[in-house]
Amino acid sequence: MRTNVTVLVTVLALALPLSAAAQTPLFAPSESTVRVAPAIARSVTAIDLGAAAASPLAAGRTAERLTLPIPGRPLVAAKTGRVRTGDRSVWKGVVEGEEGSLVVLTTRGERTAGVVLTGDRAWQIVPQPGGGHALAELDPQDFEPCGVRGDEVPPAAHDAAGAAAAAPLASAAAGTGAGGAIRVLELYTADAERELGGKANTELLIANSVDLANALFEDSGVAARLELAGTARWDGGGSTDLWALLEGLRTAPDVRSLREVHRADLVGLFVGGGGQYCGVGSLYDGNPELAYHVVSWSCAVGNMSYPHEVGHNLAAHHNPENAVGGTDGASRAHYVCGEFRTVMGYPDPCSAQTPRIALFSTPQRRYQGKPVGIAGQRDNVGAMNRVVARAGLFAEDTFADQSSCTPDDTTLCLRGGRFELTVTWTEADGTARPARAVPMTDETGYFWFFRGGNVEVLTKVIDGCSVNGAFWTFLTGMTDRGLSVRVRDTRSGLARTYDSATGQAFRPVQDTAAFPTCT
Ligand SMILES: [Zn+2]
Repeated sequence: MRTNVTVLVTVLALALPLSAAAQTPLFAPSESTVRVAPAIARSVTAIDLGAAAASPLAAGRTAERLTLPIPGRPLVAAKTGRVRTGDRSVWKGVVEGEEGSLVVLTTRGERTAGVVLTGDRAWQIVPQPGGGHALAELDPQDFEPCGVRGDEVPPAAHDAAGAAAAAPLASAAAGTGAGGAIRVLELYTADAERELGGKANTELLIANSVDLANALFEDSGVAARLELAGTARWDGGGSTDLWALLEGLRTAPDVRSLREVHRADLVGLFVGGGGQYCGVGSLYDGNPELAYHVVSWSCAVGNMSYPHEVGHNLAAHHNPENAVGGTDGASRAHYVCGEFRTVMGYPDPCSAQTPRIALFSTPQRRYQGKPVGIAGQRDNVGAMNRVVARAGLFAEDTFADQSSCTPDDTTLCLRGGRFELTVTWTEADGTARPARAVPMTDETGYFWFFRGGNVEVLTKVIDGCSVNGAFWTFLTGMTDRGLSVRVRDTRSGLARTYDSATGQAFRPVQDTAAFPTCT
């Protein structure tokens, strides 16, 4: 951000060639005073959406082409999709003649929030507090970087969690999950609400951010869509430090209960503009507690920071030079210096400016004739699809049932009956069978498949609360059968699943971040 001050700009109406019959003028320039604060803009133009019923974006109307009154350079956008989601409608298009461009407009009632991206330039449509809209050209050079967290848990524990996660990610291609809707709960601070001029505008910007992410998912080949499960103001942050806010989101009881109420897979926070970072996000590594992001509203759509941070939550990394932590080495962003970088890419590997295009890295898509990814290396989409293919994604893991553990032939109850363990193994013909459970001590037990005495999987749950505030799951197996170990904390409802593929030697699991549920 170049400055934090409020900008008041009065702009004269501009004469624009809006005469082409096949095109519907989207916004007429007006002489209103508009406000975009904190300043995110190179230039700001007041625009009129017009009466709701007459708007080309009004519900039920389907303008095929829209003119966008970009000062000095009117653009024509052609519709590529339109959906009605709840009480809002979404118009998706491309700017004609601009490969890799994207237009996403979200309309609710008489208000529209939108973004126009052409690679090297970006505009944001910001609804105004008193009605009307501002069209702000953003300066891509002005955006602050993303901060990303791969280190919410101590390094050793993180590595262990990563090892545990590797198996489920690798086996998810078998496709147990629906891969459909990812439920997101988006909170916002009082600063964001004030800067955007109220609740309605703030929640519309959030909706536009979600719609932008979905447009990128669709265009890039991500096999899931975000569903906005809820929005609410959150006053519990007490900080402007994005990392402190991220930790606050993860640990605040009121956020946890909101997450539960909305059964949200991911939880985010929109904050005011002008901070050190455009956003921060937990880098997913198989732990459903790493499902949080914080985004400055002023970067959310114009810099694609919202889809970028959500990308981190779905195991997408930066380009190799800027990647931190994580377990999926194939999930890097891609770039070709001087030509493009994908959504997760930083600009700095390249000496010259390299525009960010509206695609996640994937070898399955091309830009200007070149693939926007490298198989097995720079494939954010492949990694994201492995995550979303997991059954239940995050919330179902996090908020499973809290019924007590009842020991039987196939159910092992450890630690005074608090933890429930079950194992499912796969026969050669693919038939899934429950393994037989045998308790050994209060914290240890084993499972057998074929006959008692032939131990296949050894399990224990360790109380690490005094060490790192978590219960630990340790597993070892003496089999190459496909199997799935499920461990459930009956007190919190949190459950973990550890998979091992058929034909693969069981990889020992030492998950010291398994259950951060000591209190
Ligand atoms: Zn990032």
